[in-house]
Amino acid sequence: MEPSLPFSSACLSLWHRGTRSFTHLNANRQEDVPTSAKYVIIGSGISGALTSWKLIEDGVKGEDILILEAREAVSGASGRNAGHIRPDAFRGFLHYSSLHGPEQAKKILENEQIVLKSIRKFVTEHSINSDFTDTTTFETCLTQEAADYTAKALLAYKAAGGDVSEVQVHEGDEAKAKTRVPNAISAYEWPAASNNPAKLVQWILTDFIAKGGRLWTHCPATKVTKHATSEATSANASASARWDIHTPRGTVAAETVVHCTNAYASFLLPNLANFITPRRSQVNSFIPCPSLSGAETLKKTMALRYSANHFFSVNPLRDGTINFGGTGTRDGSDSETEKWKALVTFDDRCFNSTLVKNRL
Ligand SMILES: Cc1cc2nc3c(=O)[nH]c(=O)nc-3n(C[C@H](O)[C@H](O)[C@H](O)COP(=O)(O)OP(=O)(O)OC[C@H]3O[C@@H](n4cnc5c(N)ncnc54)[C@H](O)[C@@H]3O)c2cc1C
Repeated sequence: MEPSLPFSSACLSLWHRGTRSFTHLNANRQEDVPTSAKYVIIGSGISGALTSWKLIEDGVKGEDILILEAREAVSGASGRNAGHIRPDAFRGFLHYSSLHGPEQAKKILENEQIVLKSIRKFVTEHSINSDFTDTTTFETCLTQEAADYTAKALLAYKAAGGDVSEVQVHEGDEAKAKTRVPNAISAYEWPAASNNPAKLVQWILTDFIAKGGRLWTHCPATKVTKHATSEATSANASASARWDIHTPRGTVAAETVVHCTNAYASFLLPNLANFITPRRSQVNSFIPCPSLSGAETLKKTMALRYSANHFFSVNPLRDGTINFGGTGTRDGSDSETEKWKALVTFDDRCFNSTLVKNRL
């Protein structure tokens, strides 16, 4: 498919709607870009924001870092996701092993645990108000295929020396009772968390800017070329500039460019076109019925698993609403070619009403 920049008129997610007063939402939206920066970070999602923040932590001066964001701050997946911090405790082991061997597979899963612990520590240490909530999550198996596969994965991970000390196994009636899912065959429970991702990244950007970092929003990088000394770029460009980053509001010369552009990567790096393609994922916010409200409110998150790639994610928020995401239909028919094609798109101007209907 043709590479694309982010669409300028993206729809607003649940998290975006609740954070319209974020001070830096449209930072420098009218200004020409600075002519030079030691580091240019492209993209203001969790990857771009955290990379920039960490550079300062590691001793780089804030004013040496410039983030370019095509739209408003945190307008990509980091401001649109389900808010579910759900490390894979063992389930991916067989798949990762088949691709990379058991040792790498173990490392991937160990890294998943590190992510949860690191975010918890980060949010606590900095007193970040991002509604971070510690909980546990269920892997709820709804078909015999899912139950057999999950049991096999747990055994294999354990046999390879994987740490499964935090995984609890519930079978049959116990699984039904624990998850409150009447057709659960088995369920696996382990630590997880829920978090408002936009608030988290906005905090990181705020701290980055407070430390001198620069953020230019509504300013897409349209091309990255080898640095050329010219009147336009030479005035303030440092002698060690290696790249020119072109934008509609001028060109920045930089020593180092970090691409944090997620699904849009191939627009600037065409060699990635066959490796990174967008796939629409959609999470819907549900107001639960009385049997899941009040004292009966769900407290734990969940994956409702039919098969390897066919599942729904359930993330109950503090306010009692439920973020419901995952693949499109209960019968998995969204993997049919035509339906699949409709999900391969850069267009996030509107939600997909078919996905909502299928879930209901
Ligand atoms: C619907 C959905 C649900 C998800 N649920 C979860 C979940 O529950 N838990 C979880 O852990 N993960 C979830 N994810 C995945 C997670 O959100 C992403 O992996 C993560 O946010 C990626 O962060 P990022 O910074 O790499 O990309 P993004 O947040 O997408 O940031 C990339 C940024 O780059 C900008 N950009 C792109 N090209 C350019 C350019 N040329 N110039 C300037 N700016 C540019 C974009 O506008 C965007 O703001 C979900 C994703 C989606 C879409």
